[in-house]
Amino acid sequence: MNCIFCKIIAGEIPAGKVAETENFLAFRDINPVAPAHILVVPKKHMEKPGELALLDGDILKELFKLFQDIAEKEGIAESGFRTLVNTGPDSGQEVKHLHFHIIGGRKLGKIG
Ligand code: 5GP
Ligand code: ZN
Repeated sequence: MNCIFCKIIAGEIPAGKVAETENFLAFRDINPVAPAHILVVPKKHMEKPGELALLDGDILKELFKLFQDIAEKEGIAESGFRTLVNTGPDSGQEVKHLHFHIIGGRKLGKIG
């Protein structure tokens, strides 16, 4: 499959790995919008967050603990950060492999 994030997961193209769990990989965004900008992706290709429900295990616990671990590792757990996922054309989703952005390290503007 011609998916850039699947290639990163397979180790076929390099990425700045930050953390890894059984079902997720976290790596640095190639075009960061803030001092800390990390992408968290499921190792299995999927497009939408709802598809996480198809995975076995305590997936949300694993995912939210990973968000917290990354924030602590990056030193933004106290200063704050934004967790964001774009889904579909209206959101501007560019890469069709589900990814959660973790953005922090500076004051972020309001969204919505
Ligand atoms: P989206 O707009 O789909 O929510 O975000 C896609 C994100 O993936 C963008 O922030 C973009 O900078 C990042 N990205 C695109 N291609 C690559 C890549 O090859 N490596 C890494 N590390 N990030 C990428
Ligand atoms: Zn993929």
